[in-house]
Amino acid sequence: MIQAKGYAAQTPETDLAPWSFERREVGDHDVQFDIMFCGVCHSDLHQIKNDWFPGIFPMVPGHEIVGKVQKVGAHVKRYKVGDLVGVGCMVDSCRSCDECKEGLEQYCQAGSSQTYNGTEQDKKTPTYGGYSNTIIVNEDFVLRISDKLDLASVAPLLCAGITTYSPLRHWKVSKGHKLGVVGLGGLGHMAVKFGVSFGAEVTVLSTSESKEADAKKLGAHKFVVTKDKAQLKSVRGSFDFIIDTVSAKHDMNTYLGLLKTNGVMICVGVPSEPSPIAAFSIIVGRKSLAGSSIGGIRETQEMLDYCSDHNIVSDIEVIAMKDITQAYERMLKGDVKYRFVIDMATL
Ligand SMILES: [Zn+2]
Ligand SMILES: [Zn+2]
Repeated sequence: MIQAKGYAAQTPETDLAPWSFERREVGDHDVQFDIMFCGVCHSDLHQIKNDWFPGIFPMVPGHEIVGKVQKVGAHVKRYKVGDLVGVGCMVDSCRSCDECKEGLEQYCQAGSSQTYNGTEQDKKTPTYGGYSNTIIVNEDFVLRISDKLDLASVAPLLCAGITTYSPLRHWKVSKGHKLGVVGLGGLGHMAVKFGVSFGAEVTVLSTSESKEADAKKLGAHKFVVTKDKAQLKSVRGSFDFIIDTVSAKHDMNTYLGLLKTNGVMICVGVPSEPSPIAAFSIIVGRKSLAGSSIGGIRETQEMLDYCSDHNIVSDIEVIAMKDITQAYERMLKGDVKYRFVIDMATL
């Protein structure tokens, strides 16, 4: 086994703290890489606190992982020592179901292996994430990272980036469309960047008017303060698509009312509690309420290549590993523009 070190939550009640653990040896098809940066996703906090479902402890969070290849297995074809690589939310899947064959491993019928708080495909061996110094992953789930972009700023593309890129591509959001983005956090700011890049007219829908200047700086064409009834009314029935990135409790019916006839609202944020939907919210105007989860490996690579070609990265604040609990507190208050990224050299 390979000795690894990282930060783990021993129980849902305890803060993250240093922890040593073992990872598997580098197999024939595996890539081992030194983790240089790891993004801090809101779901990291949800999972260490058992907000969604009972987790597997000790838990080493982190699924926005970038670094440099240190070792490759005998049969690895695509990567060599020194390459820049990344790993997102999955490290394996069954590879034989219809979804896996289509490159939709995130919807694997047997359940894809989550990068942390999950198990390998043996359904026994726990997985540990990127708040650590090293990781071993099958080459099929390793992504190639361009050296043209700032590496720390690339890390959040592996979750926040693909989570917003994939649905915008699936629903072919492009020129001529009006896109509303609910929430301007880690996911929301990427949705704005991709929406603008794909040619849509992008409006940020936010409870806080203080974010207007930032939204415009990110490229948004319009800004609506959703607490202001008159502003909200002015955009009723106006959007072809709305991407809802909020992971705190909120009323989806309000946003469904902003869609045009045949409009689609796509949920990508995950509040801890279910949200009631009135049937009239979707019946009137034949609207669709949809969801989307990350993206498959092929599409994640496509997204990374698109970002490299179009100079798109996440806006980040780099932190030291020891400051993670403080970073979580700030993240809960929305006090980050727009993603914390841990410099793993500080581990
Ligand atoms: Zn995430
Ligand atoms: Zn599968």
